[in-house]
Amino acid sequence: MPSHGVEEEDKPCRACSDFKSWAKKQNRVTFTAPTKQPPPKPKDCPLDKDELGKATWGFLHSMASYYPEKPSKAQSESMSKFFNIFAQFYPCEPCALDFQEDIKKHPPKTESRDKLAKWLCERHNTVNIKLGKPVFDCSKVHERWKDGWLDGSCD
Ligand SMILES: Cc1cc2nc3c(=O)[nH]c(=O)nc-3n(C[C@H](O)[C@H](O)[C@H](O)COP(=O)(O)OP(=O)(O)OC[C@H]3O[C@@H](n4cnc5c(N)ncnc54)[C@H](O)[C@@H]3O)c2cc1C
Repeated sequence: MPSHGVEEEDKPCRACSDFKSWAKKQNRVTFTAPTKQPPPKPKDCPLDKDELGKATWGFLHSMASYYPEKPSKAQSESMSKFFNIFAQFYPCEPCALDFQEDIKKHPPKTESRDKLAKWLCERHNTVNIKLGKPVFDCSKVHERWKDGWLDGSCD
């Protein structure tokens, strides 16, 4: 199992924490003096767990929605390998461990674009349910990540 950093007790894992928890762990003055407004966070800081998650889902869903409709055998095998390797190295270790378990139970469906996009949507929904977030309607996954909403609001 690769080391992802949460076990390094003196150095908390930023990609495993939301920004506020991470800043508290660092004993930042900004969160111990409630009368003062914290300075705005610069835009070029390392990603926290939620920023990393949002950016990663954006990449993964876009990749699935642009995956070939009829992939070759080699493409299909490469995509399965990609998700297995991704699950080993995702830089939030608790997230990665749960995702590894989830894809063991539900291996990547790489036979077609639609199957891959639906499979990934379901994996994301598993995380949504765990975090108490709304479940996404997987019939709309290509509207969200490739074509834009049918009402034309993204055109
Ligand atoms: C593989 C992985 C595992 C993760 N595991 C954890 C974890 O164990 N614990 C934890 O705290 N965080 C985890 N995260 C982060 C978490 O999923 C969110 O990314 C984070 O909480 C930020 O959430 P958000 O509300 O910005 O929206 P996100 O969940 O990041 O979603 C981004 C956008 O995707 C769209 N969307 C939502 N659901 C779906 C879906 N099912 N299919 C398609 N599109 C959808 C919505 O438009 C949404 O605005 C994980 C992220 C990844 C990539």
